[in-house]
Amino acid sequence: MNDLISIIIPAYNEAANIKPVHEAVQQEFASLSSPFELLFIDDGSSDPTLSTLQMLAGAHPEVKYISFTRNFGKEAAIIAGLDHAHGKAVIIMDADMQHPPSLIPQLLEGYREGYEQVVAKRNRNGEAKSRSFLSHLYYKLINRIIQVELHDGEGDFRLLGRKAVDSVLKMSEGNRFSKGLFSWIGFEQKTVYFENVERESGASKWSFRNLLNYGVEGVVSFNQKPLRICLYAGVISLVFALFYILAMAVQILRHGIDVPGYFTLISAVLFLGGVQLLSLGVIGEYVGRIYMETKNRPHYLVRETNTDEEQQ
Ligand code: UDP
Ligand code: MG
Repeated sequence: MNDLISIIIPAYNEAANIKPVHEAVQQEFASLSSPFELLFIDDGSSDPTLSTLQMLAGAHPEVKYISFTRNFGKEAAIIAGLDHAHGKAVIIMDADMQHPPSLIPQLLEGYREGYEQVVAKRNRNGEAKSRSFLSHLYYKLINRIIQVELHDGEGDFRLLGRKAVDSVLKMSEGNRFSKGLFSWIGFEQKTVYFENVERESGASKWSFRNLLNYGVEGVVSFNQKPLRICLYAGVISLVFALFYILAMAVQILRHGIDVPGYFTLISAVLFLGGVQLLSLGVIGEYVGRIYMETKNRPHYLVRETNTDEEQQ
């Protein structure tokens, strides 16, 4: 197979990992005798990631890089990579060797068999128990709520054929949740498996808060169900309130007013206030999204690149 393969690697403060990952990928392709380009996206790193990339690109013509003006996040880095990739197929992987390059031949084999998407799925061995428990729970819940299906252990490590890449790029939305988008576009899909490994050097950039935000993003970028839940909650509380008022009216007609009803009054006010606040929060979430989408901002800005196209 002589089609060009693009490898996209988002890198945020990964100076120490650039060379090892380049070497590992190079080794894989040496035995495959297939042409490849390695496209690093420096996501506004504050360490020598960019200078390492410049040096590497000087010595190896297959190394391309795009450097952002600031940290735009991994999602933006992935789109930048997809925008600039020339390959017939594209492989997205992390810089920290947690996505083993030794899986590349299997991904390519899937592509050769005709799959537009070949997904690498990892197990969660060696991961903090609390994190894998929360992830399991999250995937159970999210698959009940949203229209696309997400699988635990499947991340951004995957191969996309040209058609799949073009489809992902057609989606211009600003709030991006790649996992969902990859699932949303469909196409024939094959899964290959790999063992969870520790990152090569440096620390993970995900804090608990990041993960929580990512989780919320997953739910709200793919549906309007939270809005509907609000609606149901509103309807149910209204029905209860009406029954309560009716019961009270009957009581008063029968026995007259006997208790001041201070407690019930306060609890009703608090309860309804809570429901209203919740609804407002969810509505605000969507209004915020509409606001961001109407701005139609570019997903990223390029500071410097050695690819031939300028920024989109
Ligand atoms: N990354 C990025 N921008 C960010 C955060 C992370 O490009 O703002 C890259 C990072 O350099 C790595 C990949 O995304 O190549 C995965 O990040 P990390 O290893 O921190 O995540 P984890 O493996 O812990 O999920
Ligand atoms: Mg990692």
